[in-house]
Amino acid sequence: MKYIDEFRQSSLILNCASAIASITKNHWQIMEICGGQTHTILKYGLDRLLPASISLLHGPGCPVCITPSFTIDQAIAIAQQEGVIFCTFGDMLRVPGSKGDLALAKANGADIRTLYSPLDALTLAQSFPKSEIVFLAVGFETTAPATALVVKKADQLGLDNFSLLCAHVLVPPAMASLLNSPQSKIQGFLAAGHVCTITGYQAYQAIAQQYQVPIVVTGFEPADILQGIYHCIEQLEEGRFEVENCYSRSVKPYGNLQALKLIEEVFTVVDRHWRGIGQIGNSGWELSWQYRRFDALERFNDLPITENIDSENICGEILQGLRKPDQCPHFGIGCKPEHPLGAPMVSSEGACAAYYHYLERIG
Ligand code: SF4
Repeated sequence: MKYIDEFRQSSLILNCASAIASITKNHWQIMEICGGQTHTILKYGLDRLLPASISLLHGPGCPVCITPSFTIDQAIAIAQQEGVIFCTFGDMLRVPGSKGDLALAKANGADIRTLYSPLDALTLAQSFPKSEIVFLAVGFETTAPATALVVKKADQLGLDNFSLLCAHVLVPPAMASLLNSPQSKIQGFLAAGHVCTITGYQAYQAIAQQYQVPIVVTGFEPADILQGIYHCIEQLEEGRFEVENCYSRSVKPYGNLQALKLIEEVFTVVDRHWRGIGQIGNSGWELSWQYRRFDALERFNDLPITENIDSENICGEILQGLRKPDQCPHFGIGCKPEHPLGAPMVSSEGACAAYYHYLERIG
């Protein structure tokens, strides 16, 4: 396939790995922030092609993994109410809340529907005017523009039976939070190319300088990942801490201005709780006051607000890159994709699911 196969050629991948080995003199620990990148690394065995002195740490860049359990509890509480049609993406169904998941609530009779596009929620709102249509909006800067567009359309259509349970998050504050942790081992970052396609990469300059870490904007194909690692190692070996763009076929310095304008109009930045990590300042979006009437938290009362963090300790260490999935005692025994104990095993982008799916290579 043109534009994909070129980035998966074995000769190119081996040349990239060899180039990395040729410049690596010291031990380095680099975090790929995005779960999609983690999957590419595991799927293609890229970590096995690197010198033993390079360790790849897997980051929290999976929206399903970091959506807090109280948001799932809120989703269930709303979905169980009379007259509600609750809408979500399919991979949110099995994310554990404190007392179950949306799949269980659906099995018990709640009207929960999986959508491929948030725009489908508006179609439902028009088709069922006597029902309350609630959409669980999750994801990073990549999915926020689509959610913002839906809210604007709902406003234009004058819909009063549509609302959002909004759990959108931003990546740069989470990177700073990870670096602030005394346990952090991160010496460089591969930033997520699709996020930077929306936001650009100017926001990363301050992080690179303040924490003295190189940040390399990286794509998702095997050659992309190895190119990102090469440039990260090159900077580390030379003592440089800069933001570099290795995904220029998609990412521009200032991002997608139209999408950013839409986000700015519809959302306002707030503190947000990340599952397994905790509260991170300025790391989330909620609806701005002009659109607050579409906020499900304003429309439904007495929703759960307490995070159940006790059961998330091990998963939290995975999400912060402090441990690897196969170091979890539950991995592949009590915790499998068929019966996950934590969100990193549920999501198709979760690090634990990636390790499990490519288990035979790890074992
Ligand atoms: S294997 Fe399961 S319990 Fe262990 S960290 Fe991963 S998701 Fe959490």
